[in-house]
Amino acid sequence: MMKVPLLDLKAQYQTIKDEVLTATRELYETQRFILGPEVEKLEERVALYCHTEYAVGVSSGTDALLISLMAAGIGPGDEVITSPYTFFATVGSIARVGATPVFVDIEEDTYNIDPRAISDKITKQTKAMIPVHLYGQCCDMDPILELAHAHDIMVIEDAAQAIGAEYKGRRAGSMGDMGCFSFFPSKNLGAFGDGGMVTTSSDILYQKLKILRVHGSDPKYYHKVIGGNFRLDALQAAIILVKLLYLEQWTSARRANARRYRELFSHEGLDGFIGLPVEKNGRHIYNQFVITAQSRRDELRRSLNEAGIGTEVYYPVPMHLQPCFVYLNARKGDFPKAEAGAEKTLALPIYAELTDEQQTYVVQRIKAFYSS
Ligand SMILES: *Cc1c(COP(=O)(O)O)cnc(C)c1O
Repeated sequence: MMKVPLLDLKAQYQTIKDEVLTATRELYETQRFILGPEVEKLEERVALYCHTEYAVGVSSGTDALLISLMAAGIGPGDEVITSPYTFFATVGSIARVGATPVFVDIEEDTYNIDPRAISDKITKQTKAMIPVHLYGQCCDMDPILELAHAHDIMVIEDAAQAIGAEYKGRRAGSMGDMGCFSFFPSKNLGAFGDGGMVTTSSDILYQKLKILRVHGSDPKYYHKVIGGNFRLDALQAAIILVKLLYLEQWTSARRANARRYRELFSHEGLDGFIGLPVEKNGRHIYNQFVITAQSRRDELRRSLNEAGIGTEVYYPVPMHLQPCFVYLNARKGDFPKAEAGAEKTLALPIYAELTDEQQTYVVQRIKAFYSS
């Protein structure tokens, strides 16, 4: 039986092994593991890649969100608008700084926050918005930025899944006040562990982020503000520097795989059963290739699993229905599009090293499932 894992990091490692080992060997000799020249070099490269003035390496995508909210001065009494259909960290970070998450439902086709539904949720307490560029496609940013400007609201982009994604020619992470990236291994630019980055073109926010990253100390052992240990490891930075050289190539391969899936699905006549990802306003980088199963999603998933095909549901429970957020008083039915997404979406393997044969097999198994 053919095996098609959801993601095959070992296949990617084989292509960069020597370079990674060379890049990290030096650090073992110098034993300089905290911040340092590798982190600075990566910050410069990522800022360049994301079309921003600055980038600040941090310990994870989650910490990128947390430190951004701290740098924006968000706290108790403030409201932050975001999507209920996201990874937990987006909403968890808002709650952790003491602010109140305010949800806005998503667009049916892109699964990103619906900009037309935002203005109803803006109050005097609204201090920030966190649009999430889900699956590797940017939110519809023009109306979001317009609202933010009109109401003096900060925009923090959750670009954890979207490094290199573009909206009308602008890169993810360069449109809001800050952009948050993750180097979690399953992201398009993954470290060998946890890591993250905040991008910004504001001098003031850049200085704040750098200070907050080291417990708020400026200079060392003197603290005007309370920060945390949000540092990126030099070893992770050295590895990501190698991988960054291949990112465009991997993104092209993911996009080519997405095109191939479209051909295969249309060839098999699965239109009535399966909805395919919709591309809007620019470059989708396909961190995930997420289909919509019109019916029997969980059965389809089990059947693919039995056929050796890895899939995942991103995400089975929208944030407004998570037990830890009951205090927000949201109910089932409040965000119907997010809830429909949770019931119907299924991520298929899309990684760069995926072969034509594997993709054909995946689509044939889906065809077989709906024919039975
Ligand atoms: C992965 C992810 C995060 C968190 O990143 P970590 O590096 O795992 O902490 C935040 N938001 C979204 C949308 C993500 O996909």
